[in-house]
Amino acid sequence: MARYTDAKCKLCRREGEKLFLKGERCYTNKCSLERRDGVPGQHGKRRQSFSEYKLQLRAKQKVRRIYGVLEKQFRKYYQRAASAKGVTGTEMLIALERRLDNIVYKMGFGLSRAHARQLVSHGLILVNGKKVNIPSYQISVGDTIEVLPKSKQKADIQSAMSFAQSRVIPDWLSLDKDNVKGVVNALPVRENLSPTINEQLIVELYSR
Ligand code: SF4
Repeated sequence: MARYTDAKCKLCRREGEKLFLKGERCYTNKCSLERRDGVPGQHGKRRQSFSEYKLQLRAKQKVRRIYGVLEKQFRKYYQRAASAKGVTGTEMLIALERRLDNIVYKMGFGLSRAHARQLVSHGLILVNGKKVNIPSYQISVGDTIEVLPKSKQKADIQSAMSFAQSRVIPDWLSLDKDNVKGVVNALPVRENLSPTINEQLIVELYSR
């Protein structure tokens, strides 16, 4: 499975905001964005130009990086959303939010989405009691997500769980910390997602 393997902090610096790609470190003063400003690279300190196209491109890259999705896959999310009923940009974001790796991260079983994706692809996550190892799997209302019983005490999962106490679990999910298990109570709506995302710019980019 293809994935981005370059330095993650560079991605935040490129977007000029925290994308929370490295787990615990993102919440400390070791966060690169707090220590260095400017976009990465030799010309990072130069004044940036903001054409309409550039704004659209940056809006798309930011969301792609938040969810750790490569370009080809991201475009498929857009195409499916464009042919669905509803507002295209919102449908696309909700489909990304419904990814199993995102839910595992939001429930606190993974330190970051990348860690959560690893747990899923290594077969450590059960959906409704059955192993699902597809990170892009779309969860539905009523689904129960849990860590494989023999892996519940693994150090990285326990560490993620204790660290997640400092994060807010969205109210459309519920969590049983003792049993490392959660339930999807409802599907997310636009208000549950980041207000700094401008999905309309992404739709404009792909509609060119
Ligand atoms: Fe981004 Fe986290 Fe790196 Fe900070 S520590 S720049 S939030 S990935």
